[in-house]
Amino acid sequence: MNPWLIGTPIAAAGAVAGLTAYGAVYPRAQLFGRTICRTNSACKLALTFDDGPNPAITPKLLDLLDRYHAHATFFVVGKFVRDHPEIVQETAARGHVIGNHTDAHPNLFWLSPDHIFIELRCCNYAIAAATGKPPHWFRPPWGFRNPWVVPTARGLGQQVIMWTLIPRDWKAQSAEWLIPRLEPVAAHARRNANRSQAISAASTGDILCLHDGSHRKLNADRTHTLAALEHWLPRWRDLGLEFVTIGDAVSSPAN
Ligand SMILES: [Zn+2]
Repeated sequence: MNPWLIGTPIAAAGAVAGLTAYGAVYPRAQLFGRTICRTNSACKLALTFDDGPNPAITPKLLDLLDRYHAHATFFVVGKFVRDHPEIVQETAARGHVIGNHTDAHPNLFWLSPDHIFIELRCCNYAIAAATGKPPHWFRPPWGFRNPWVVPTARGLGQQVIMWTLIPRDWKAQSAEWLIPRLEPVAAHARRNANRSQAISAASTGDILCLHDGSHRKLNADRTHTLAALEHWLPRWRDLGLEFVTIGDAVSSPAN
């Protein structure tokens, strides 16, 4: 049982537990503090990649993104950053944004405030050592939060980034399996193209959560993710989507 439920009257525990699960897991829940779940324009697609750096995939992904002039955000795991700082340095040098994804990828829901702080700060140190600057963005592993995650990130100068779409690419057995699961991004863009200009200008865009690595090990196979992006990047571009970093997705004026 979560320690902060201890002492809750039994009659209320079920409702509290349900609410807790919602706040901890649901990507757009704001119960445990404000998170960013969308871009500020329907024309802006924020591609995000978790669990790297991955020497088997990340360099290929960087080349693919370059071909489409796409900038993305990479939420990296501190222990992997220390193994391959040169990949993180290269990622930042190509105009992408580096975000914190903890040091060892634990489930933060079960961790104390001190332990959460250590996880975030160690990853910050690894990123700063590789790129020269600490990150401004944080994504909790699996998106799991408890009441201390968002305040701890904020105390370290970071905003918490969730997503509108997570197609579970770590389960992909083929690009053919993954490609249809990315269709909602295109459907959103098509819907937006049919809206009036005023409604379109006020609409928000997608944050897509993909994976260039695995939190379990280096050199995980994510070739299906690369292949699905090869399929979609030109199609998304032709639908008018702009591929932006989280910083560009939330801080520039909507257009
Ligand atoms: Zn992760």
